[in-house]
Amino acid sequence: MSKSFDKKVKKIHEIDPSIQVTEERGCIVLRGEMDDWNKIVRAGKKAVGHEYYGVINDIKLRGFEPKEKLPSINDELYDGATPDVLIIGGGLTGCATARELSKYKLDVMLIEKGADVAAGQSSRNGGAVHVGINYSPNSGKHKYCHRGNEMFDELSRDLNFPFERPGHFLIVGAKWENILLYALWLNSFRLHIPGVKVIGREELLEHEPYAPSWACNALYMPTGGFMSPYKFNVALAENAVMNGVKVCLNTAALGMDVKDGKILSVKTNRGTIYPKIVVNAAGVYTDVIADMAGDRTFTIHPRLGTDIILDKKVGKYIRSTMDKSPITVLGPEGKGGIIKKVKSVKFALSHENVSKGLAVIHTVDGNMIVGPNATETPDREDITTNASTVDMILREEMKVAEKIKPSDVIAYFTGVRSPSYEEDFQVRPGIFTENILEAAGVQSPGATAAPAIAEDLSKWAVEYLENKCGMKVERNLDFNPKRPTKPYLKDMSPEERDKLIKENPDYGQIVCRCEEISKGEILDALDSPLPVYTLDAIKRRCRPGMGRCQGGFCSPLVLQILAEAKGCSLEEIKKSTEDSTILFGETKK
Ligand SMILES: Cc1cc2nc3c(=O)[nH]c(=O)nc-3n(C[C@H](O)[C@H](O)[C@H](O)COP(=O)(O)OP(=O)(O)OC[C@H]3O[C@@H](n4cnc5c(N)ncnc54)[C@H](O)[C@@H]3O)c2cc1C
Repeated sequence: MSKSFDKKVKKIHEIDPSIQVTEERGCIVLRGEMDDWNKIVRAGKKAVGHEYYGVINDIKLRGFEPKEKLPSINDELYDGATPDVLIIGGGLTGCATARELSKYKLDVMLIEKGADVAAGQSSRNGGAVHVGINYSPNSGKHKYCHRGNEMFDELSRDLNFPFERPGHFLIVGAKWENILLYALWLNSFRLHIPGVKVIGREELLEHEPYAPSWACNALYMPTGGFMSPYKFNVALAENAVMNGVKVCLNTAALGMDVKDGKILSVKTNRGTIYPKIVVNAAGVYTDVIADMAGDRTFTIHPRLGTDIILDKKVGKYIRSTMDKSPITVLGPEGKGGIIKKVKSVKFALSHENVSKGLAVIHTVDGNMIVGPNATETPDREDITTNASTVDMILREEMKVAEKIKPSDVIAYFTGVRSPSYEEDFQVRPGIFTENILEAAGVQSPGATAAPAIAEDLSKWAVEYLENKCGMKVERNLDFNPKRPTKPYLKDMSPEERDKLIKENPDYGQIVCRCEEISKGEILDALDSPLPVYTLDAIKRRCRPGMGRCQGGFCSPLVLQILAEAKGCSLEEIKKSTEDSTILFGETKK
């Protein structure tokens, strides 16, 4: 064993001497059983090293039994399917890859275990289109975040989802903290990020008149933006379907038949599928899927993040994305001795080691989002939100958006990020299995990076099909990058609305008063390449229930519209998954 391995073992044993550490197939593997999840994560982090493909941390948390939510449907609908490419996961990575592959004449199938696309972290994020200023130039995060950021203008035009680019401001409260701003400014040249500059308070106020009273300088990053992540996800999926991809919802990959380093088939709850190549885009489950395929070199350690949505009336107070530098925690005056200061600058510059988080983000709908925090959890599907987290985030972010109050909160949600121990994206062709492509560790800034990751995955899939399967893969000359525009009443002039309502009175029937959404827009969402008849799917597509009253008024009306359109009873319409019943039956006749 090498010296560096011995050193790692020593450090890991300082956490718990009972942990077994071995080197296997180029990976460092940890096994054992412990009582403290945070210590298990710390042990995993100590194992990271460039000499390995990655860390396999199989230390079990005593008393914790992981429970994966799986669809309850069991049939043979897709049994015997033989797609060229099978994508596992209908989040941003999977759907962007499906769309990218639809540019070729290929049989592409995407399976998603949820009842809709964007069932995982892709619908539970802040929607910031990140600049990626603090990544190292050779990281996967830099490569894909940078390219992904560049792609958003064209994508939003083609796919017709909301996106704005008002910039990102990193603010500091004391002159000495400018060291950090200038260090990041220098990094922007290494990373080829255009237009970054250090600005003073006056210029900051020109962009953001309500910037906090203590902010003296800021790093202005003009390429920062925000978008609607679930609308983006739905748009990618719909455009992929328009161009020939088959999207199969409520379909989970449960196992694989692998022989001589090759996946022969993928077992699902809806039959066995025989793909030529598999794309693993399963978010927090990418390590489980890689394990099924015999290609596991990494471990996902789920990391929770809670975001808080504030009322539109305070949306005007921050019009871009703004966060305070991590060193401002010392206080606006920069209290603390020189060692504390140096340490805090070092921490801020090595910020890529953790998830991006704690910012104030304007949204495409005019609200403000604050958050998220970052907490390690053993549970890959734990999306509960607790009051103390909400309080902590509000307390912190009220320092940045000084005008907001706790009573402005209208909703909050929690998502689970999917970092690997290497804290970088693991996007690569299979190492031990020839016909799998891994898209793992895609945590923040993964929503920004997904379209760029998809370009590589699609390129590698085509190369594999040509070089290893003897296929001649042709361009799909009928590929249509555009997703048709649907009427959005709120953005129309009174004259335009009048005309539309005369043509179709359904647009004159307002269902959601808070967001001003009409019956016509809900019916449009159902008349799409990927119609999903659940309350949440409609909410994501056209926003009824997203306003101040959070669906208190409009949900019964939306239920009625869905039941009528589907030709079923009200009880059959679910909130999100098949078991999320809303109505059990009539109480009065
Ligand atoms: C709180 C929070 C805030 C964030 N904020 C931002 C931000 O502002 N900007 C940004 O760029 N990024 C942000 N991110 C990161 C971003 O959301 C993710 O990186 C991105 O959504 C990852 O997409 P994905 O498709 O790889 O994974 P996911 O969206 O998790 O998709 C994986 C899909 O696979 C499905 N699946 C899993 N197992 C199976 C199986 N066995 N069979 C079939 N399907 C399966 C899941 O149901 C899921 O839908 C944030 C993340 C969180 C949690």
